[in-house]
Amino acid sequence: MPEHTPPKKPFSWLPRTLTQWIGVAVVLGVVLGLAAHDNAALASALAPMELFGELFIRCLKLLIIPVIVTSLVVGVTSIGDLGRLGRLGGKAVAYYMGTTGIAAILGLVLVNLIEPGAGVSDAGAGEVPDKAQAGSGMTVGSMLGRIFGETLLSPIQSLRDGDILTVIFACLLFGLVLIVLGERGKPITAVFKRADAVVMQVVRNIMWLAPAGVLGLLEANLARGGLDSLFAVGRYCVTVTLGLGIHGFIILPLIVLFIGKMSPRRWFRGIRPAIAVALSTSSSSATLPVTIEACEDNLDVPTGVASFVLPLGATMNMDGTALYEAIAALFVAQVFGIELTLIQQIVVFVTAMAASVGAAGIPSAGLVTMAMVFEAVGLPLEGIGLILAVDRFLDMGRTVVNVMGDTAGAVVLTQLTREN
Ligand code: ASP
Repeated sequence: MPEHTPPKKPFSWLPRTLTQWIGVAVVLGVVLGLAAHDNAALASALAPMELFGELFIRCLKLLIIPVIVTSLVVGVTSIGDLGRLGRLGGKAVAYYMGTTGIAAILGLVLVNLIEPGAGVSDAGAGEVPDKAQAGSGMTVGSMLGRIFGETLLSPIQSLRDGDILTVIFACLLFGLVLIVLGERGKPITAVFKRADAVVMQVVRNIMWLAPAGVLGLLEANLARGGLDSLFAVGRYCVTVTLGLGIHGFIILPLIVLFIGKMSPRRWFRGIRPAIAVALSTSSSSATLPVTIEACEDNLDVPTGVASFVLPLGATMNMDGTALYEAIAALFVAQVFGIELTLIQQIVVFVTAMAASVGAAGIPSAGLVTMAMVFEAVGLPLEGIGLILAVDRFLDMGRTVVNVMGDTAGAVVLTQLTREN
């Protein structure tokens, strides 16, 4: 008798996960884009596909202000419990800001040295938007004037105008006031926490539009820039990976050794389970239970320190994300042939730091907050199209470095508790 094989479910060959769909979109986008680059008739036939990309970018734009407002306020108010650890709380925040700042600067240095996006603009990556050209005249005075003048005079207007720097500053200030208010501020903090959860759910849902966005934007970008754009994306991946490698395998181990007084070998061995989970989930939050366990069991971090520093770190301390956002912004500027002045690069640094604090510990969160870095210096959001194609892959690496940074923080703060 012939063996009975159960009938195959219809469409079982279709991709299931979001990552698989994005993978399919990348392959299709590359093939169609390169084909259209050499064939004008095909290019005009495929031109309407750019609308998919436009739709996705509009959704990202829509999310920028809600994401900044809810996640920055929630991020800052989570420092409110610092009182529990007294002076150590201040040291935790100093550690987070210090290491995130180093990561963002490292990103800026590498992207300026390697120039992964150079040479593509001649191939016609796109037109320089007026906003970016207007931003190039920015000075320290005008920048500070923008932040303080408008925040103090009209925060609502800056929300409406999408003036990112001002909104970031207003949210930081608002979060700090809520901390100072203590118990009286808690009901308002709770509202922001709920709103943040809702916004993050919307982000997760909108990410399902990413495959269509990747297809449309990648096809359009490659149809214009051809192979040059593709090579540029490759150089961009190398730059980000190099930066993540230097931060995770040189800078953090040195901090663990000299400030945490622990052998980097022991640290690395101890956190291996957390690294594996971060790599496979692309989510610091999902990795948190494993991170806590690894730190307590393998690195002798006391529960009091681990249960405070690691959850806070998983939301606030994202070295990999800051490094990646700084590189991404300058890469897109290079691709579009936009020269960013020193002041504009400082704005990228500040917004990349804020974006990393604002990014939730979930997959692709950094992509949404990156839109705010672009807006702050007037970079075209269409540039995200090139980055989007490789974002899932780079997200794995930056999440690993984010988690490594948190565990290094736990080791450092354990040492500082002992010294106190
Ligand atoms: N996926 C990252 C994390 O969870 C955040 C990001 O997208 O950069 O740490």
